Amino acid sequence: MSPLVTTAQTLVAVFGLAAGLGFAGGCGKRAVDRALASDARGYFCPGCNAKFYTEYEVIADVCPLCKNNDIRVIVGFVCSSDQHTTLSPRRHGAVPCEKCGKPASRLSLPREAELKAWNAVRKTQAEVAP
Ligand SMILES: [Zn+2]
Ligand SMILES: [Zn+2]
Repeated sequence: MSPLVTTAQTLVAVFGLAAGLGFAGGCGKRAVDRALASDARGYFCPGCNAKFYTEYEVIADVCPLCKNNDIRVIVGFVCSSDQHTTLSPRRHGAVPCEKCGKPASRLSLPREAELKAWNAVRKTQAEVAP
């Protein structure tokens, strides 16, 4: 009895690649990730309750209204439940989410649009100088 010798047959699968692999340019999806950048700086004055913001390049020294130098930087606190951003003076810990009331503790840099929606008024460098 001679053993059956199986000849391995190699099947070559040929994948026909289209000669011209064209990249579909300009599909319209623009992923703009500016989470770590901002275009404005927001402030709150506890002395006169002024809400204001400046260009990101400008750092305010005093409140534009009462010239108090005890002004607070505004940051966004992002709620982990609904991703809503609550603007509030920078502090340690969490602030209650203004939408659902749960503590929001993830910080974000507020954008000009968010500061405007928060009723902050744009001020120039001269206005926030002592
Ligand atoms: Zn003030
Ligand atoms: Zn919330």
